[in-house]
Amino acid sequence: MIKQVKNPIVEVHDLTVAYDNKPVLWNADFSIPKGKMVGIVGPNGAGKSTLLKAIMGLIPIASGFSKILNENLKQVRHKVAYVPQKESVDWDFPTTVLDVVEMGRYGKKSLFKRLNREDKQIAVEALKKVKMLDFADRHISELSGGQQQRVFIARALAQEAEIYFMDEPFSGVDMASEKAIVDILLQLQEDGKTIFVVHHDLQSAMDYFDWMIFLNTRIVASGPLSEVFTTEILQNTYGGNLSMLEQIGQIYKEKQFPIRES
Ligand code: ADP
Repeated sequence: MIKQVKNPIVEVHDLTVAYDNKPVLWNADFSIPKGKMVGIVGPNGAGKSTLLKAIMGLIPIASGFSKILNENLKQVRHKVAYVPQKESVDWDFPTTVLDVVEMGRYGKKSLFKRLNREDKQIAVEALKKVKMLDFADRHISELSGGQQQRVFIARALAQEAEIYFMDEPFSGVDMASEKAIVDILLQLQEDGKTIFVVHHDLQSAMDYFDWMIFLNTRIVASGPLSEVFTTEILQNTYGGNLSMLEQIGQIYKEKQFPIRES
């Protein structure tokens, strides 16, 4: 089930991405309405990170295209913020927490322009929002996993973007940080922003997201949570993965979510 929408904020057409001639994302075709909190789920290696990077134009694509706000990526780059997977960041890079957040402002500047007082104030406000202002002068390598993640979210907030792409923002963070991050994302959604989150826990996915993309090299489904959380779609996404099916059984029991038998 792939629900196509009118006036999408993000649209993807026949998008195929290959590494070394081996397709890892195949013919993705979907559209997403503005203002949604979109969860992207699927097994390891399904192509979730690849999908985010391809939508943002960060990696070469084999065929197809994506559009954001009905524009080509170049025109809207400054309206897009990205929180990469924690593992892909060089935490030994010699920089402080405040430096990282201020980097979020450079996309708004013309080339070689320096940050002004307003930019610095926006960076400070972003750090306040993620409750990391006390750590402003710390080196980023000296933070816990949850704190590092919050700093990168502050950098995304400082960008004042329209669309946020977050790759596993909850991985390796404690429950308190996860809760803090979810609250920030909900606030962004309240402000009319659209948020994409790569996520691996189906149970919390049901609490966090109102739109879901199920991915396993191909798009298995994309649509409102209540329409795509079906046994058939879960099985098509995860196949016979036992632990995942157990997790799904647990979800049935605990939430008694109205899963549609198909
Ligand atoms: P997911 O985020 O769902 O775990 P990825 O998008 O990271 O999946 O990866 C999809 C597939 O592409 C995996 O098989 C992975 O090994 C492969 N892959 C990812 N990045 C590269 C790369 N830079 N070079 C070659 N293969 C890659």
